[in-house]
Amino acid sequence: MPGLLERYRPYLPVTDRTPLLSLSEGSTPLIHAPRLSERLGGEVHLKYEGLNPTGSFKDRGMVMAVAKAVEAGADTVICASTGNTSAAAAAYATRAGLRCIVLIPDGNIALGKLAQAVAYGAQIVAIQGNFDVALDLVREISAQQPIALVNSVNPHRLQGQKTAAFEIVDELGAAPDILAIPVGNAGNISAYWMGFREYRSAGKMTALPRMYGFQAAGAAPLARGVERVENPETLATAIRIGAPASAHLAKAAVQESGGLFDMVTDDEIMEAYQLVASEGVFCEPASAASVAGLIKRHAAGQLPAGQRIVAVLTGNGLKDPGSAMRHVAPPVAVEASMDRVLESIR
Ligand SMILES: *Cc1c(COP(=O)(O)O)cnc(C)c1O
Repeated sequence: MPGLLERYRPYLPVTDRTPLLSLSEGSTPLIHAPRLSERLGGEVHLKYEGLNPTGSFKDRGMVMAVAKAVEAGADTVICASTGNTSAAAAAYATRAGLRCIVLIPDGNIALGKLAQAVAYGAQIVAIQGNFDVALDLVREISAQQPIALVNSVNPHRLQGQKTAAFEIVDELGAAPDILAIPVGNAGNISAYWMGFREYRSAGKMTALPRMYGFQAAGAAPLARGVERVENPETLATAIRIGAPASAHLAKAAVQESGGLFDMVTDDEIMEAYQLVASEGVFCEPASAASVAGLIKRHAAGQLPAGQRIVAVLTGNGLKDPGSAMRHVAPPVAVEASMDRVLESIR
């Protein structure tokens, strides 16, 4: 498959001067999930965004944003990140020959993500503050310096990210009844909604899905209906955001689609994380919020039966293996003999 800028060029802000930057992002699998389908009484598919080049959906937006930065003559990009944005920004920046600066909350990003940004050669600044503080800082810096901001407040990010909705429709032949998605800074839910609407306008589909956005209970301003949560807390670090930058767009998506926001506890997230793994798919904790939300609604009798549902799994479990290992007993070492091994697997 070609990269997204080529595959969906007519729907993207790609001009003659836009470089067709690509790491072969997008075209990720939509995996049918039989166990979840049975449990939820519907037809559940997992959009596994963890198979993008840097392991999360952030690549979709970043390829577009970095290509537009190159087109505009930038030589440096900057972003605030809970981890995955920095990995994607660093990868596409180095690919395009740009310098990349990332601000991360000190001590609160998964090691795999940090390792990626380091390997791709980004300049990393860990700040003594959370994501929201980091985002305020990079917005200020990019307003004053000749540095392109590639957070999702950059509209090109959402343009790239909307292609995931196109892929789902291209594969299913229609939109699902429900699109379940984790919500952090709220860019992705907004991008999917934009994608579905544009595809309907283009005659590629008719009925729009209901958008179900799920937040972590400790970082759930949208689900709680408040402007901001002061000290967001959750083990799902990718959605540990108290003041979503795209809140207005996300609210419109939920309202216009007849969808909802809800929140899930860290325990519910980790239960869903294991359920997803039991389907043979490894996602990161934040990603499992989409499935956790569906399970919660179903348990409360608030999920209509017989629906075709797509749950977006935003990132790869390998980014944060520590989360998986904290919830299981570590393997026990035994003597390297047939007897001992057979004994231990009885
Ligand atoms: C960025 C991210 C999210 C949140 O997406 P938003 O667009 O910020 O709402 C969820 N999961 C993962 C793995 C992410 O990297």
